[in-house]
Amino acid sequence: MAYKLLLQLLASYSLFLFMAIASSSVFHYLNVTAPTGRMQKWIHYAWPPVIGVVAILGLANYYVYIGFGTQQDLYRRGNDSFMAVSFTFDDGPSPIYTEAILDVLNQYGITATFFLVGTHAEHFPETVGRILAEGHELGNHTYSHIMVSQVSARMLRDQIERTNRVIQEITGELPKYIRPPRGLYDRRLKALAQEYEQPIVLWSLSAQDWRPKATASSIAARVLSKVSPGDIILFHDSGALFRNTGASRQATVDALPLIIEGLHEKGFRILPLPQLLFPHDALPPSTE
Ligand SMILES: [Zn+2]
Repeated sequence: MAYKLLLQLLASYSLFLFMAIASSSVFHYLNVTAPTGRMQKWIHYAWPPVIGVVAILGLANYYVYIGFGTQQDLYRRGNDSFMAVSFTFDDGPSPIYTEAILDVLNQYGITATFFLVGTHAEHFPETVGRILAEGHELGNHTYSHIMVSQVSARMLRDQIERTNRVIQEITGELPKYIRPPRGLYDRRLKALAQEYEQPIVLWSLSAQDWRPKATASSIAARVLSKVSPGDIILFHDSGALFRNTGASRQATVDALPLIIEGLHEKGFRILPLPQLLFPHDALPPSTE
């Protein structure tokens, strides 16, 4: 994937060169060999650097928001070369909604990824066990749903390690990924993710099912209108967060069949996350 970065750099460099040559030949043609006026001078000398700066800013912007695929420790979306998406659920487990969601996923034969809050996992180990037993994957969503940037390095490590420990005690294995609350990460989290070989997985399409007024049909309409190949779709299977105690996720549960059927109608397959992220290692199964 590094070739993409190289290609982008090469493209912007050639654009820069092209603009420089073009500007000098334009001025040469116009016989403006030695610019005299202030304005002329400015235009003569400023054009190429301005274009260069714009190109660099554009690149930086692209890097920050989309990435070049060189960051193997961070994923925002999957392979977009075939019609497939992946489902992810944050904030659980919940003995009510996670269980209901598992029933729906089971019914349609879909494998998803659940990013667990450590303290919730501690409270509902049976649900954690069921998630794994039914073939889904687990991720680390911190121990008490902290904002990464607002805690000390020591607390951040504790949040990640405690959650790893809780999940490992229940399931015998470490969660595969890390997803920080609100998708906000920093260098410290990236270092921890590398240390534990748990890539950071964000999302490219939020169902926005956490909105108080979200209904099953509004959630489904949003997802179905915005979906594109390679999307990692974010849902929430628990509303039991500290500042939002016990919010219902029934709308998410009810939206799922609509979304699954709608996606199938559009020709999308709903694949396990590894098949979306690493299609060369795990080729998607052929459609039935
Ligand atoms: Zn969350």
